[in-house]
Amino acid sequence: MILAAVHAYLFPVPCVGCGIEGQTLCVACSSTLAPSLSDEHIPGVGRVTSSLSYDGVARAALLAFKEQGRTALAHGLALPFARAVGAALQIHPGAVAVAVPSTRAARRRRGYEPVRLLASRAGIRLTPLFLPARPHAVQKGLGVADRARNIDGAFELVRPARGLRVLLLDDVVTSGATLSAAAGVLRASGAEVVGAAVLAATPRRDGRSSGMLSKSA
Ligand SMILES: [Zn+2]
Repeated sequence: MILAAVHAYLFPVPCVGCGIEGQTLCVACSSTLAPSLSDEHIPGVGRVTSSLSYDGVARAALLAFKEQGRTALAHGLALPFARAVGAALQIHPGAVAVAVPSTRAARRRRGYEPVRLLASRAGIRLTPLFLPARPHAVQKGLGVADRARNIDGAFELVRPARGLRVLLLDDVVTSGATLSAAAGVLRASGAEVVGAAVLAATPRRDGRSSGMLSKSA
């Protein structure tokens, strides 16, 4: 902590949440990243457990982490990610955690895979099932149907998944099309997809879903 404070004093950077000069994420903004578990049902995937609402500081931090190379943010984002994954694995003991891969273009641009980096910082053991990157690149600006079409068939497995119970991991869920496509490929290969865990989920029109995790829903 002292080293971080000294470093922030010597090399101040704007906080990604509020812009104040100091650390990558100031204390006030950090406190808004406290995990608040929620779950929703996404067709083709099942229960998707998330830790943060994808808005405000969480959204700004995740975008900076993914798109501006602010990898130091993995430190602050790892805890809420670990909570979402831990909660999902508690419901599905024995399931293996499988990261949804980035597109090749995104991987080339960033030089790292955000989900893998988060998982690594969070101490989550990943089971490598997908090829490191999927080829389709352009998702931004597409509608839900176009997204689904765009990523259809875009995932390739390194080995058959038969007999595995899989929990999918991703950084953020918006339309759910990416998770759904990944789940479809796993199922076609014989895996059972028990659901997904993500760091953040887009707030739904009806607000954050239940906010409670139950075994029955
Ligand atoms: Zn701040």
